[in-house]
Order: sequence, then C-alpha cells, then structure tokens
Amino acid sequence: FDPVTKICFVGAGYVGGPTAAVLAFSNPQIQVTVVDRDSSRISRWQSKHLPIHEPGLDDIVRVARDGTNATILARGSAKESVAFPERTPNLFFSTDCEQPIGEADIIFLSVNTPTKLVGVGAGAATNISIFESAMRSIAVVAKPGAIIVEKSTVPCRTAQVIRDILDIHRPGVPFEILSNPEFLAEGTAISDLLHPSRVLIGSSNTSSGLTAAARLALVYNAWVPEASILNVHLWSSELAKLVANAMLAQRISSINTVSAICEKTGADVSDIASAIGMDHRIGAKFLHAGLGFGGSCFKKDILSLSYLAESLDLPEVAAYWKSVVDINVWQCERLVKRVIKSLNGSLTGKKLAILGYAFKKDTSDTRESQSISVIEHLLRERPAEIAIYDPGCTPADICTELQALFGAAGSGIIAPEGPINVHADPYTACTGSSAVLILTDWDQFRYPPLSQADSSAAAVESYVHTALARLAQVQVLPEDWDLNAQQTLFRSQPQCNIECTKCNKAPGALKSYPGENLK
Ligand code: NAD
Repeated sequence: FDPVTKICFVGAGYVGGPTAAVLAFSNPQIQVTVVDRDSSRISRWQSKHLPIHEPGLDDIVRVARDGTNATILARGSAKESVAFPERTPNLFFSTDCEQPIGEADIIFLSVNTPTKLVGVGAGAATNISIFESAMRSIAVVAKPGAIIVEKSTVPCRTAQVIRDILDIHRPGVPFEILSNPEFLAEGTAISDLLHPSRVLIGSSNTSSGLTAAARLALVYNAWVPEASILNVHLWSSELAKLVANAMLAQRISSINTVSAICEKTGADVSDIASAIGMDHRIGAKFLHAGLGFGGSCFKKDILSLSYLAESLDLPEVAAYWKSVVDINVWQCERLVKRVIKSLNGSLTGKKLAILGYAFKKDTSDTRESQSISVIEHLLRERPAEIAIYDPGCTPADICTELQALFGAAGSGIIAPEGPINVHADPYTACTGSSAVLILTDWDQFRYPPLSQADSSAAAVESYVHTALARLAQVQVLPEDWDLNAQQTLFRSQPQCNIECTKCNKAPGALKSYPGENLK
C-alpha cells in the first residue's frame, strides 16, 4: 500500500481529540491534524489547559503535540512506567478546515450526532445534519483516493449518505468509505484507546474497500495487535456500535430494576450483582445499581436503535429498547421521591448539597447527566438552597450551563437571586445541608484527604459508617454536625443514596458499595 503520511480528524471533541492524540502518539511518522470550526475549543487544544479532562491525556498530548518527553504507564500496569524521549511534534490542532482535509490520506469524521429535536423522529432519531454538513465540506476539498472514515456513531447505512454526497460533489472521483466506530468510555478514554478490546473496521466487500480497510488496520497496528482488529461489512459495523451501547445500558437498567425489588424485600442488590456476575456467561461489569446512566451516548444510541426498529416496522423490538431508557428516567425520579419523603415531604426552607454534577467520575462532561435531572426535580419542590460541587467542573462552567438549560428563567435560579449555589469546595457546599446527595462516584467522595481526618482509624471507621447510614437513608443531619471537622464523610457511598444495606448488615464493612462505577 501507499504509506499513510497525513491524517485529518474533523471534530475536536471528546472522541476526535483523544483518538487523534493516541493515533499520533503511536505513529510518529504520520502527521495528524484535528480541525474544528469551534475556535475556542481549538485554542484550548493548543494550550496547556486542554478542553477535556481525561486521565493520561495531558502526557500523550505533551509527547505528540509538543514533542516533550513524558513518562507514561506501561500496558496493564498501575506502577511500571515507560519514558518517552523528546521527538518531532506530529499532532496539530487547527480551525483551518480546508488544507488539512485536502492533504489527508485518511479523514476521520468525528463530529457530534445528537438526537433529532424537531420534525419526523424528534426525540428518537439521530440528527445527522451536522455530520452531513461536515461531509459536504470534506467532499469539496478531499484529495482523490482519500479514505473517509465514519468515527462518529451514526445510524445503520449512513455510509450510503456519504456516498451520495460524494457522487453529487465529486462525481467519478474515487473515494473509499469506512466505518470505524469508537468504543472508548469517558473517564478512561486514554486507557481504552491505548488498549482497546477491539478495533472495528467496516468496509464494502469490493477489493478497493478491503484495501482501504487494510490501510486503516495498518495505522492501528502500530499499537493494536492484529488479532484485536475486526473487519466486517459497513452496515454491521455501524449497527454494532449502537447495539454495544444499548446492551451496556440495558444491563444498568436491568440491575436498577432489581435494586427496586431489593429495597422492598431486604435483599442486597450488591450481593445479587456479585452472585450473578461470577457466572462467566453474565460477567461482573455494568452490574452496579445506582442512579442510572448518563452521558452523551447511551440514551441517544438506544433511542436511535429503537427508532431504527420502528422504521423497519418492528414495533415490539422498538418498545423493548425504549424501555431501557424509561427505566433510567424512573430510577432518577425514585431517588428524588426518596429524598423528599426522607425530609418529611417538603424541601421548603431546606438546603440540599449535590456532590457530583458531571455524568460520571474522572470527566468534566455533563451531557445528559442524571445530576441535572435530579436538580430539575428538586427545584420544583422549592428548596431554600441547592449547593452543587463537582471536582471536574468549574463553578463558572456549571453556572453558565444551568443558565442556558433553564432558558429565560436561568439567571434567576443562580444565587444570589435564586436557590442554586455552585461551590468550588465540597465542604462549604455541604455545610448546613439537610441532606447530601452523592450522585457521582468520584474517588474523592470516597477517599478524603487523610490529613484532614482527625481521629484514630477505628473512630474514623465508625464515624464513616454512621455517616454512610445517614447518607444512604438521606436523613436530616444533626444540628451539631460539623462538616469541617468531620471530612471523612466524603468517604462514602459513591453513587446515589438509594440503599445502603451494607451498612445495615455489616457495620464497619466499607470495602464495596452499591453503585460503584455505575455509568
Ligand atoms: P463533541 O460534541 O464533543 O465534539 C464534536 C465536535 O465536532 C465539536 O467540537 C464541533 O464543534 C465539531 N464540529 C461539528 N461540525 C463540524 C464541522 N462541520 N467542521 C469541523 N468541526 C465540526 O462530540 P463527541 O462526544 O466527541 O462525539 C462525537 C461522535 O462520537 C458522536 O457521534 C458520538 O456519538 C460518538 N462517540 C462519543 C463517545 C463519547 O464518549 N463522547 C464515545 C464513542 C462515540
């Protein structure tokens, strides 16, 4: 094959940025440019303060973008690290969408594909207009023979849309289209990209399609073993991504329905998860009950799958997948009802602290966060204050987002006029609260800085146990409860506080909690 020398990613988001960084890091001989029309995003990618918080991303970017030396953890090791020497930079970020696309051998489309909000299929179908528009720009400038890769998650048969656009703008010019969906999870994006369970490449079965797939496989081969690269048909690859997300989300909704049964029977949902997870046919992952799934992908991809089934005249299949989303909404409402009930049926005059605003730990991404739904529900009960803290989001970003979410009423809900107060530290957020809702499993909520714990290990353990029990039941905290002196509280249940039967059953047993790694 002709060697690949230049690659362009269109879309510098959560997928485009980290994927391009790892690809450039692993292929020093390839020049990788990420383009985006959002100039503020690009300038953050060019700066020291990247627009995305992902463990390990800074180091990878430092090596590939700046050519600086860095020490990076070795594969499968928590301790062993590998030193990377200085090298020639090969990762670039730009708002110029023409030249890097026009020169690229491979163009990855990694733009956003949200759920359609208006018109036919509103609320379920995927809105591919952003994807289409990016594709139209690519079609005009891409060099003949370039490989165009769908990295975004798209409905099955979207490659045909790309083909149609190319036929209109560049009739007769040879281009190959591949599907290469991304399976990374936010919060572990770099580790997932460096050690993927599989790389899926969808191509047409023609000899030029298979050649294009082999060229892309070679790029991945720089760090991914051949056995982990799977070549399938285009339609299968597109559909596999939707199904993968739907299956993962389905497990969360399934175990959450079981959590409701446990709460009424006295069974422990984490016992159930352990018991069934040891069956290798089921497996232990994604079986942690909690508040439910969030993030930009799961809901939109299940809805897209459900819509696809509906449009194929398979209403039963559509209803089955839609119910996964319905359970997720119900689980969130269940927590809110429990908070209200625990606080004697009224939130009037009470302060509630929310720890965790992003959709899961180790990310600053707040898209479709269940925390936001909880806040919306709680606001309707007119509490005196809702105090929010998240380790990954700045108060300014949270305030701006809430103002935008609440539209015209937005500025009125943020303090000093409104009830929402966003804090830069968890202790002030919790001081004086009637209840603390830990909605995201950030480690710092579980493992407080030990220097701030002021007692013997046994006393701390006993205090944490008591605090956990209180939190779990969302009970009113005692008036003399001094949060600043008792910061061990944050070593607590990582997800929502729906149930904490561990505390009831085994005092002091603080090793695992329901809801861990939930989303
Ligand atoms: P994102 O919103 O973070 O980033 C998309 C970027 O594309 C934005 O910065 C936007 O400005 C840019 N863009 C849009 N149109 C453009 C154009 N015409 N030219 C240049 N730039 C343009 O989205 P994301 O989270 O990175 O997701 C991208 C795709 O990957 C989606 O289809 C998503 O479903 C899929 N995906 C996301 C994840 C995830 O964890 N976020 C995981 C796997 C797959």
